[in-house]
Amino acid sequence: MNSLRLKPGKEKSLLRRHPWVFDGAIATGEGGGMGGAEAGETVRIESHDGQFLGWAAYSPQSKIRARVWSFDEAQCIDASFFIAACAESIRARSLFDIQSDGLRLIHGESDGLPGLVVDRYGDTLVAQFSSCGSERFKGVIVDALLKQTGLTRLYERSDAGVRSLEGLPEATGWLAGSGSTDIILTEHDWKLSLDVASGHKTGFYLDQRDSRHKFSQYARRMAFKRVLNCYSYTGGFTVAALKGGAAHVTSIDSSGPAIERAAANVALNGFDASRTTMMDADVNAALRQFLKDGVTFDAIVLDPPKFAPTAFHAERAARAYKDINRLALMLLEPGGALFTYSCSGGISADLFHKIVAGAGLDAGVDAYITERMGGAPDHPMTVTFPEGEYLKGLVLVKMRA
Ligand code: SAH
Repeated sequence: MNSLRLKPGKEKSLLRRHPWVFDGAIATGEGGGMGGAEAGETVRIESHDGQFLGWAAYSPQSKIRARVWSFDEAQCIDASFFIAACAESIRARSLFDIQSDGLRLIHGESDGLPGLVVDRYGDTLVAQFSSCGSERFKGVIVDALLKQTGLTRLYERSDAGVRSLEGLPEATGWLAGSGSTDIILTEHDWKLSLDVASGHKTGFYLDQRDSRHKFSQYARRMAFKRVLNCYSYTGGFTVAALKGGAAHVTSIDSSGPAIERAAANVALNGFDASRTTMMDADVNAALRQFLKDGVTFDAIVLDPPKFAPTAFHAERAARAYKDINRLALMLLEPGGALFTYSCSGGISADLFHKIVAGAGLDAGVDAYITERMGGAPDHPMTVTFPEGEYLKGLVLVKMRA
């Protein structure tokens, strides 16, 4: 068994059960203690004086040089470890309120399985192996998932950019079962179709499930007439608003296939296309154009892509968030609702709140903050892994004065 010795003082985060070991924390570099370790191999992490800290998967090329599987010295990292970890993660989902047959079963570090994401869409599992460790144990993990869910179809979507940081090639395709990759899931009281082979991430943004539901409730309560869904992807918020009784929804996304599917999802739920406008366009430009044309809305969703993957990008991202929020607040009718989000790990909830406040000041608009939103509970956060908190949202209701 290879071991990885840390520099003095670098054991602190592991003692707090944070699962990452950065390359800079390691005392024995390649050619030292790690001479023989292969990618994904389980290594013993120890402090500068040899104290056991954790069993971790070794990633020779990544800045995150090792990811901890277990902090228990007696734990053996073998098939039974992954069987138990998958079972625990799946069991936890039964504790959460999830009104959908599309849900995240395993959420990486937050479920004690770094580098592994598993989503279930109806009868199909989709898995993403994004670290050398999860890659090495792929076979065992796939077997465990199929057995524990009783499903027969599992599609691999190991095409996330982070794979290249690990020195791993992209890998996609069926690992079990076969057939169409087009799937219809039922979420709350609407249906949404997706393609697990070509959709974003593993096919869909499951993490916004609770916010789509909330939006539908607001649509009903506030009797939305004109709605604007920015960064609509396949129209989740669009369908939710229509279900809530919104008269008309404009959806904007710069991805042609996404906006086409948004139109298909509107039809799938039995709504007439005349109640929607689908724009394959850039949100920044569209918002400015609406302002110029004097168009206003009763409700707006801003759910942009990750502007700041890490805190390093936070400043530029903050300007971008502020700009779209300022424009949205100006386009909103008094008494209207803005559902605004950031899925940037590099922007904290507190900073996001400040950015939106700044946007309000610039727009000359005050607003009630009626909700603080986070990711759906099947994308859990844990005490020991604060990086798990990435999605945050605010619901604002624009004051009339
Ligand atoms: N709200 C969606 C998820 C949005 S994901 C849901 O509930 O499913 C972010 C989306 O923003 C992606 O679909 C991406 O194609 C789109 N996008 C990224 N940059 C954009 C831009 N400048 N203008 C319009 N859409 C953009």
